[in-house]
Amino acid sequence: MSEQAGADQDQPVLRLEDVRKTYPGGNKVLRGISMTIMPHETVALLGPSGSGKSTLMKCINLLETVNDGRIWLGGTDITDPRINQDACRARIGVVFQQFNLFPHMNVLKNVTLGAIKVHGMPKDQARERALELLDRIGMRKKAGAYPDQLSGGQQQRVAIVRALMTDPELLLLDEITSALDPMLVGEVLAMVSELTAGGTTILMATHEMSFAHHAANRVVLLLDGVIAENGTPEEVMDESENPRTREFFSHFR
Ligand code: ADP
Ligand code: MG
Repeated sequence: MSEQAGADQDQPVLRLEDVRKTYPGGNKVLRGISMTIMPHETVALLGPSGSGKSTLMKCINLLETVNDGRIWLGGTDITDPRINQDACRARIGVVFQQFNLFPHMNVLKNVTLGAIKVHGMPKDQARERALELLDRIGMRKKAGAYPDQLSGGQQQRVAIVRALMTDPELLLLDEITSALDPMLVGEVLAMVSELTAGGTTILMATHEMSFAHHAANRVVLLLDGVIAENGTPEEVMDESENPRTREFFSHFR
């Protein structure tokens, strides 16, 4: 479903260099995170609750500032305070666990608002792109519906469409199925799989271990603020000899 073109295939989409984040009060959440995401990779970010997955994503999306280290989005050092933050955010699509859509706006308005108001996309173009993206997930006929007329799964799929409006270089998905009725998880994960197949570059925090195993190209495990594992799903989830890694995955068997 992606139309990413012209990206340099040898250059990482995202590069983190020794990223550190301590919240006011002294909680050292990220203690030196270094990792790279290459074009078209889907990377699953795993770790216990409180291990810093959301914090890491917020630092990448500039919702939190890092205390130390650098984050590169393509060739841009986004930790440089002089950068244009809105321009950087337009290059990253984000979907959170919940509260993604504005309840008083219909689907089309929800999907187009940010692209028009924040990123300066012309209205007609935004409308056309939104309808095309909704069409691809079979939801064009819901363009006039309000969020409370949609299932949770449909709402999250609309939220993903909204995140794709600016054709971002990177899609951040933060536990997007955690608040869903189990029956609705599958349709959202199926959409993620389609994006992966279409070449979208994705970093997703998730507790859906079987999905991570079969759909991710790479798995990163965060434990106590550092990357404990970074490898293929098989290497990390099946073959790691690290007792803490095995302990973590044992909870999901
Ligand atoms: P995860 O997404 O892996 O569950 P988080 O990044 O949400 O982890 O949280 C990591 C740690 O940082 C937790 O101990 C959490 O309580 C703490 N934390 C998260 N957000 C804040 C904040 N805004 N201020 C202070 N502490 C925070
Ligand atoms: Mg989280």
